[in-house]
Amino acid sequence: MSKPYDIIVIGGGILGLSSARHLLTHLPNLKIGIIEKGTSLAQQQTGNNSGVVHSGIYYRPGSLKAKFCVEGRNSMIEFCEKNEIPFDRCGKLIIATSPDELPRLNDLYERGIANGVEGLEKVGPERASEIEPHVTTIEALWSPATAIVDYNAVTNTYAEQFQEMGGDVHLETELLEIKKLSTGTVLETSQGIYETKHLINCAGLHSDRIAKLMGIELDLQIIPFRGEYYTLEKEYEYLVKGLIYPVPNPELPFLGVHFTRNIKGYVEAGPNAVLATAREGYRKRDFNLRDLSETLRFSGFWKVAFREWRIGLDEVNRSFRKSIFTKDLQKMIPTIESHHLKTGGAGVRAQAVRKDGSLIDDFVIEKSAEAVHVLNAPSPGATSSIEIGKYIADLARDTFNLN
Ligand SMILES: Cc1cc2nc3c(=O)[nH]c(=O)nc-3n(C[C@H](O)[C@H](O)[C@H](O)COP(=O)(O)OP(=O)(O)OC[C@H]3O[C@@H](n4cnc5c(N)ncnc54)[C@H](O)[C@@H]3O)c2cc1C
Repeated sequence: MSKPYDIIVIGGGILGLSSARHLLTHLPNLKIGIIEKGTSLAQQQTGNNSGVVHSGIYYRPGSLKAKFCVEGRNSMIEFCEKNEIPFDRCGKLIIATSPDELPRLNDLYERGIANGVEGLEKVGPERASEIEPHVTTIEALWSPATAIVDYNAVTNTYAEQFQEMGGDVHLETELLEIKKLSTGTVLETSQGIYETKHLINCAGLHSDRIAKLMGIELDLQIIPFRGEYYTLEKEYEYLVKGLIYPVPNPELPFLGVHFTRNIKGYVEAGPNAVLATAREGYRKRDFNLRDLSETLRFSGFWKVAFREWRIGLDEVNRSFRKSIFTKDLQKMIPTIESHHLKTGGAGVRAQAVRKDGSLIDDFVIEKSAEAVHVLNAPSPGATSSIEIGKYIADLARDTFNLN
């Protein structure tokens, strides 16, 4: 067996790569490897998201999300400029379509201002229709700093830089078992045994399982929520110039179905949020007995289900009936019709839920003597990836005494 690693990062998504890259930048003598079970990087959440570089409007001031997103937006744009990764500062309009949404729109404005979101302003219907000519609104928030990017390209650039500094990326290598020894940790993978002194768990939809494999007691579990998208037919793409979002339900960690212009030019509408019957359940028919039975045996899931059953049913209804999805979109753009939309892709969110039934809103990053675990990294995790990577690298350096 070759020399043991100082650190192995589990998961080749945007957070695993960002953390590994930061560690090697500051501690170049470490031997660091990434193991990823997919055939390429970023095949899960990172490669199936909306591609938005959020500006930091939604998040509770003082939360990790607020801090990492506002700083992360700037560092992401700087990184893209420096590495010639295409991005577009197309801006985002959050639109209120009924008077009862106005207090929540105002709350969002105050949060955005408290978080220091650049250029955020309240706009009336006239200004809103100059920005997005096809929307209908009574009042809106305009965030000119919000941008779009391809997070696959960002992840691959992190990976190139990590490998140039001497880091190893092992694809098609699934972590199966972890054994602790007095000298370190042995990882049994689908490609054989790896030895490492420390671990960083960035396994996204499977991060709770990896933590449990290390004997960590958790008060939470990952519940997978699929988000389905439609794509606007080419001849109707003119209806959306940038990003158009509804006022979200403040009780839920999801932003509501929205229109997103993709950096490749097409326009997506979505994602909704339906319980997935498999952690990697990208299609309605995907089913995994272990995943589903784990969800159904988890008390936190039933507490969410009893509390939010009405919203859950609406989401399922919208998932199966395009006419209902279209109706929601028509609240924002009344001229959208069902035949303007074709079925698009889907992403699955790793949403951590506590045993008491709370849907965890903020990022959760925990440490133990030998490991750092990312246990909740929903949106804006990709936007914040550089800042989260720095935070994890600092935490690992201090916890593992790497100086
Ligand atoms: C539908 C959707 C829309 C979103 N939109 C946005 C957005 O517009 N802007 C934004 O900032 N954020 C957005 N997000 C959030 C963002 O995508 C995530 O925060 C981010 O991708 C998390 O990255 P990650 O590296 O933690 O997870 P992932 O990208 O899921 O990576 C985890 C990796 O671990 C690997 N893995 C798991 N188990 C094992 C194992 N046992 N062995 C080896 N490898 C393993 C997986 O294969 C995977 O590649 C969105 C998320 C979703 C799902």
